[in-house]
Parts: sequence; C-alpha cells; structure tokens
Amino acid sequence: MSNEVMMQAFEWETDASGNFYKKLIDDAKELKEKGFDALWLPPMCKGGSDMDVGYGIYDLWDLGEFDQKGTVRTKYGTKDELLKAIKSLQENGIKVYADIVLNHKANADFAETFKATMVDQNDRNKDIGKAHDIKAWTGFDFKNRNKKYSDMVWHYYHFSGVDYDDLTKTSAIFRIMGDGKYWNKGVSNENGNYDYLMNADIDHSHPEVREEIFKWIDWFLDTTNVDGIRYDALKHIDFNFIKDLSKHILEKRENFYMIGEYWLDDENSMGEYLKDTDWTIDLFDVPLHFNFKEASENGNNYDMRQIFDNTLMKERPLNCVTFVDNHDSQPGQALESFIKDWFKEIAYAIILFRKDGYPCIFAGDYYGIGGENPIDGKKEMLDNMISVRKEYAYGQQDDYFDHPQVVGWVRRGEDNSKSPLVVLISTGDMAQKQMFVGEENKGKIFIDKSGKNKEEIKIDDEGNGVFNVGPGQVTYWVRKD
Ligand code: CA
Repeated sequence: MSNEVMMQAFEWETDASGNFYKKLIDDAKELKEKGFDALWLPPMCKGGSDMDVGYGIYDLWDLGEFDQKGTVRTKYGTKDELLKAIKSLQENGIKVYADIVLNHKANADFAETFKATMVDQNDRNKDIGKAHDIKAWTGFDFKNRNKKYSDMVWHYYHFSGVDYDDLTKTSAIFRIMGDGKYWNKGVSNENGNYDYLMNADIDHSHPEVREEIFKWIDWFLDTTNVDGIRYDALKHIDFNFIKDLSKHILEKRENFYMIGEYWLDDENSMGEYLKDTDWTIDLFDVPLHFNFKEASENGNNYDMRQIFDNTLMKERPLNCVTFVDNHDSQPGQALESFIKDWFKEIAYAIILFRKDGYPCIFAGDYYGIGGENPIDGKKEMLDNMISVRKEYAYGQQDDYFDHPQVVGWVRRGEDNSKSPLVVLISTGDMAQKQMFVGEENKGKIFIDKSGKNKEEIKIDDEGNGVFNVGPGQVTYWVRKD
C-alpha cells in the first residue's frame, strides 16, 4: 500500500463527553473508505480529570479503568471502549498510533518536602540562591489502583524538577537536589538545559524510573496492541533513554512505527536527533509547518521557491511526518502558530501530492475546531484531496519552482494507464504555466480536480499544457478519462 495517510484524530477541544472511542468504532469503516491508513489517537493514560486532554498525565497504568482523579474514564472513554476502538480500527485496516507522554507527571496525590534550588528560567544551569527546603506535589501512590499492574510509589527523587514551592507559594523552576542528581543530559540546550518543561519532570536517569517505564511499555503495548507510538515532548527527554526504549520496543515488534514530537524550527538539530536515536524514530516536520506559517502570513511577499528550505521533507524525506497544523499550533494553545485559512489547501496540496514525507491530516482541519471560538472543518475538500493523492500522486516528480509566487509540479504517474497529476499554486495573482505531462498525452484533455476551474486544458503535440490557477489558490489537474 503506497501513498499512506495518517490522521491526528483529535484537537484540543475534541468532545469531552467520553464518547470519543465509541465514535471511532462507528467511524472506522468510513475513515478507511476515505483513505486513512493510520490514526494518531490522543494520550490514553489517566490525566487530572475527565476533561484532561491527556498531557496532564497522572497514571501510566490507568487507561480508563480505575476511579482516580474523580473519574474512571478519561476524556475519551473507558479502557474497555479504547480496546474495542483499537480493534475496530485495525479490523478495518487502519493502524493505530498511541500518544506517549513520558516527560512529566501531574496531579500528584501528596506533597513532599525536600531540598531544591531555584534556577534561572532562561538559563537552567544557573542557580538562583542556595538549595533549601521546598514543598511540592511529587508523591504518587495511586491508592484507587491498589497496586494493580505496578506497585511503584513515586517520590520527589524520581523527578528532576518542579515549578512550584508550596511552602513559600512561589512559582519558579526548582531543580531537585540529591546525590549526583542534576538535570537530565541529552536534552535540548535551549535555555541552557531544556530538561524541564512542566509539572513534575521525570528523572529518566533514575534506575527505578527506567525500570518502571520499560516494564510499563511492554504492558501497554501488549494490552493495547497498537501499531505505533507518538512520543510527546522529545526535546525535554534524554535521547539516550528514548533510543534505548525504542530499541527495546523494536526487539519484539518488527515494523512498529515511532514518530517523535521535537518542536523546533531547525532541521539541523532534528537531523542530529534522528542520528542520536539511531534512526529508530521519525520526526514531525516542524520547520515545514513554520515555512507554511510564514508563507500564509506574508502572502505574495513570500518567495515560494523557499518553501522547502531547511525542512525535513527536503533533507530527511525518509524520516518525516509532514503536517499543516496540530493540537498545539491551533488557536489559543501554547505553541499557537495556525496556518491562515487561504493557505490551508495549498499546504495540504504540498504534503499530499508530493513524493516525500508521510502526511498527517489534523482533525481540527478535517472536522473543525470546537470550543468557544469554533472553526469549520474542510472535510469535503480533504476527502477529495486524499482521493487525488491515492489515485494520481505517483511516479516521477517534475518541479516548476521557477517563480516567486507561481510554482507547481507534475507527477508523471507510474504507467500511462493512470493520468499524471499537475499541481499549480499561485500566492499572487491569477496565473498560467506551461507544464509537460508527456508526449503520450498529446491531444488529451485535462480537468481541474479541485473544482475551481471549469476550463478544460488540451495537451499539445509536444505533451505540454498551459494550466491555470486563481489568485492565492491551488489547482490540481488530471486527464479526463
Ligand atoms: Ca524532562
């Protein structure tokens, strides 16, 4: 199966009534028919409440099974419903990727008093003052799980940092002290050392933590039978830990798919990260997302010939998942950098119709975004684009990136029984471009599958056609037969 498509099946405001998994069961068949080959599901572990998106993770071992944090189910449903949803998706030929949050834990059961040092927010290697007693929420005993699956109780020494001292009611980043204890190595060097992100930051160098997480991943994968995982917040976790864990997973599971979130607009560092983790995982193409953002904001002042500069799609095409937006970039979220509406179809054409990258469609673009400031989805447009990808986006790719605002490419197809695909983008005015579709197509008629342009294009004797595109639009043309 080629030209696979993944969907990030949730957005920040996804319905919190506990029916998400049930809906997946209902939708599985249709999702496959629409062309989705894999779904990235939201974090499955219990968070701080039945509204928690999942990144405020409390208990790795509670997939919606125990009455903890005031709820048995998670935001998305019960463990039972989760397992049924995974099975249903897989029976319909859809792979399931689980979102794994290993950087931190939140919503602790009890506070503890211990020694810590305040550090500079912007240089975490710089201490502010001396080590002193603070009181922080670092104790996790999971009473209502009653030691089922694991009897580990988490204490402050299993963490490397916290962001609140309950003794003095101070919000700041505190490094937890201990023999030979420091921030974890192998993390991003932004802010000096970017081990600390949020909540109680897990110390992956602690042997008990390592043992627990390795034990947990075996249980989790056996229990859920997912086909892959998406690692959250990799900038803040020692890459050696992720490499070891990923190799551990691959020992037992061939073809298991791993994709990591490394949120940085820097292809070089991401390339280093791919190497550091021994090519066991792929990364999201964050630099491409930022190029989309810049292009969408600058309109015809952006030079579209630069759209692939410093992207994974260009430099690491075999190790990247391309995307337009996600739950963090959507409006109102921490990393808000939403692609402007006029550019969305262009961006999706770039991730769906070119040869490189594994494209991921965002539920917030597909179904729309809920909450107080809703945004309409583009299901019809994306369904059509996925079907064009599946049917026509094959073979040699001839680029026409020869103008700052008018660019395009032709996929020549794998054999002449299928039409080539002509994609033409203009971020400026209405435009035309002569493009070569092969002499074998001389005299043939091409039509615009985007539905915007009713004109039919006739290919000349040399195999060229002159294709059209409106201002700020993309058209995609195939042979009419
Ligand atoms: Ca960390």
